[in-house]
Amino acid sequence: MERRIERQLSRMSLEEKIGQMLELKVNRFSVPDMVNGKPKWRYVDAMKLDESVLDTLFAKYYVGSVLGVSGNYAETRAQWLEWITLIQQKAVKHIGIPVLYGNDHNHGTAFIQEGTLFPQPINMAASFNTALAEEGAHITAYESRASGCPWVFNPTLDLGRDPRWPRLWESFGEDAVVNARMAEAQVRGYQGDNPNHLGPYNVATCIKHYFAYGSPVSGKDRTPVYMAPNILREKYFEPFRAAIQAGALTLMVNSGSVNGVPLHASYEYLTQWVKEDLQWDGMIITDWQDINSLWTREHIAKDKKEAIRIAVNAGVDMTMDPYEVDFCILLKELVLEGKVSQARIDDAVRRILRVKYRLGLFDNPVKANVDYADFGSEKFVNQSLKAAEESMVLLKNEGDILPLKQGTRILVTGPNANQMRCLNGGWSYTWQGADMPGVSENFNTIYEALCNEFGNDKVVLEEGVTYKKGKYFEENEPQIDKVVSVAANVDVIIACVGENSYCETPGNLTDLRLSENQRDLVKALAQTGKPIILILNEGRPRIIADIVPMSKAVVNILLPGNYGGDALAGLLSGKANFSGKLPYTYPSELSSQITYDFKVSEQVKTMEGDYNYDAVVAWQWPFGYGLSYTDFVYSNLVVDTKSFTADDMLTVSVDVKNVGAVTGKEAVLLYSSDLVASITPDNRRLRDFTKVELQPGEQKTITFHLPAQNLAFVGADGRWRIEEGDFVLRIENMMQTIHCIQTKVWDTPNR
Ligand code: BGC
Repeated sequence: MERRIERQLSRMSLEEKIGQMLELKVNRFSVPDMVNGKPKWRYVDAMKLDESVLDTLFAKYYVGSVLGVSGNYAETRAQWLEWITLIQQKAVKHIGIPVLYGNDHNHGTAFIQEGTLFPQPINMAASFNTALAEEGAHITAYESRASGCPWVFNPTLDLGRDPRWPRLWESFGEDAVVNARMAEAQVRGYQGDNPNHLGPYNVATCIKHYFAYGSPVSGKDRTPVYMAPNILREKYFEPFRAAIQAGALTLMVNSGSVNGVPLHASYEYLTQWVKEDLQWDGMIITDWQDINSLWTREHIAKDKKEAIRIAVNAGVDMTMDPYEVDFCILLKELVLEGKVSQARIDDAVRRILRVKYRLGLFDNPVKANVDYADFGSEKFVNQSLKAAEESMVLLKNEGDILPLKQGTRILVTGPNANQMRCLNGGWSYTWQGADMPGVSENFNTIYEALCNEFGNDKVVLEEGVTYKKGKYFEENEPQIDKVVSVAANVDVIIACVGENSYCETPGNLTDLRLSENQRDLVKALAQTGKPIILILNEGRPRIIADIVPMSKAVVNILLPGNYGGDALAGLLSGKANFSGKLPYTYPSELSSQITYDFKVSEQVKTMEGDYNYDAVVAWQWPFGYGLSYTDFVYSNLVVDTKSFTADDMLTVSVDVKNVGAVTGKEAVLLYSSDLVASITPDNRRLRDFTKVELQPGEQKTITFHLPAQNLAFVGADGRWRIEEGDFVLRIENMMQTIHCIQTKVWDTPNR
């Protein structure tokens, strides 16, 4: 393959090489409208690719990559095949090199009308089941490839450590290990076992958004992050390292800045940390128009040309510059002026060609000649349903009000009761997740699924609060009295509250509390004395502390996808059992935000003295919390050694028994605490997890093999270290203390 790449490269002119580094949006290949004398490419449905535009762009600019949907909505599979076939024909005719086509298939084939949508990544995290994440990724790869798309902009590995951030639901929650393990599973699922040779059912991954994107100081999307360098390395970098070492082929850069350095301009983070330290031969792409951002938003360049110089020299290989071609002209000038080296261009193009060869695009630019008979099949649907089921988190179940018996008369209320878009969230048929006419109706809302489960005559819908059409968070005038009067005739109220769908900047918040209307609805219903089951359907944890005490049961369904209504109905009736756990800490106070790996000083009541240092930070529910219809009892935690060095493998086992009356699945979480360290240690860290199914009365021994080096932390000097002293290993309520007999400091950037 490397020989083929070199041969190809040696035949290419500078212009052809630079063209490979440009990614355009698909509608750039149509005829634009002219608005005030300027071209405006349509963002409408029924876009038509224009052959002469295609000819010009490929013959003149040698464009290497195309992305996205054209209009507002997902396309049919047939439309995708038609477009991508034409694009590939033109690219091969004019350049001899197929295009790399990429799509945001972030939770299933979100932009193919007949494709299978999965729960969002935050749900996959809540399932704590890496096999589900892998299978979901594999199905997405299969359906993408069947439609001609060989590249997905996923998995997303931004730690969701700030509940205000509008993209929290796109990745796997607040913990680095959960993100890393899910990433490894999904890279396997998407790409298969051999990253050098992807099969006809595999796609290349694009891990994003590198890195620390999810912790902006303001809580708003694409705003600056300030972060201690040791935390960057120890937590935020880890999922990316894991994904790259698992074979991830491409990487997309964070649109913002960290400690004042825009990621797109960072030679240290792009070239040194990723390409050099990890000896990674994959390809780095910008996020949307982000070379432009270096001068228009970040003000570290005076114009686009300077921005291109900075980004390409920092290590960017491909620019996602959806509508512009001046990158080609400006970068050529920079090379001729000696400001970007020919060697850097060759390196970038090698990386781009490598992805294309690995995907086999030179042999089959559109798709392999194989049967994709399982596309959109029942089998795939069932897998999505199963994932939804395993991802829902039972947070409260007072007096075992759940499961509900058949015959129960149910009032379903709240703005999320009868809408598909809330179940799916953003990146679902549209960027912002608006329902797709003709498609969304094929799936069951919560209300419809409850009717199917409990009978039409037993379930009544009165929403009370509704979202304004075409808006994200604005709500119509509430009609709470109406709901209260209906409540008189039912046995139980299922209040479906949360958020409308959104994505990126439109999802920025001004208040983390659940909307006042929705909380008022629950408060008014509480006055009726009828039991309330609160269903949270939201992309991030909205504060609900005032209505939790009024609710007998609380279920957080997060963003469970098209089969979320069905999954919830099955869980509420007891046909299925809950097994999800929270992948983040659920906040309870507006001004208290905390993650599970807080410092001890954030929780202890101080010792007696002159001053009161109490800084007890509250939460509603902790990370890893989730109930079941059965009970699990843990016993017999055994660590195979009392003392260890960094090079040892620790074997940790525990017995888990299902002592209840129904079958259940339990996520088993292994934590460690470093009791004393040279910089303030976290109170605890998740080190491994697994999920086990147990029949009533059944007991299993769970064994973890934990490399002792995984207990290391990054010191103030930026180096990984593990220090002599005591560590506690903990599973559920059991713990064992072990002793590290020797300090080790790594002299390599990664362990
Ligand atoms: C988002 C990315 C996405 C890209 C392409 C950007 O606005 O930040 O997550 O992959 O658009 O659609």
